[in-house]
Amino acid sequence: MRPSLKALYDREAMQRCKQAAHYHCERCDTPNDPGTGHTLTAAHLDANPGNNERWNLAALCQRCHLHFEGYNPFAGVTEDNYNYVLTRCERWFIPHLKGYIQNQTWGHHPGESGEPGDKEKVTKRKGEIE
Ligand SMILES: [Zn+2]
Repeated sequence: MRPSLKALYDREAMQRCKQAAHYHCERCDTPNDPGTGHTLTAAHLDANPGNNERWNLAALCQRCHLHFEGYNPFAGVTEDNYNYVLTRCERWFIPHLKGYIQNQTWGHHPGESGEPGDKEKVTKRKGEIE
């Protein structure tokens, strides 16, 4: 690994990520056990070591980590298909994907109404008052 790349890694964030997963692989639930060769790692899902946002870091065993080498799971997720991707992706990946979506310019931000049924509810309530 190039030293310049290594400097980008946020060791504390990676440690917090593994802690939050209770030292189990988020994907296959294998516990961290370096003695038996099962070392838990913190993976940068978008392959950018400078992106240490919680949603981008996943506690993965080496085997699962390898699965994402050279493969960005966020690639191809767009404004048009993210709802579909959310319903089809692996369960452990959902919070990561939601974080990714919220960080996109087209993503829903806190406080914004994204519920399709909201407008209808408001109209109905108005009708009740009249
Ligand atoms: Zn795993």
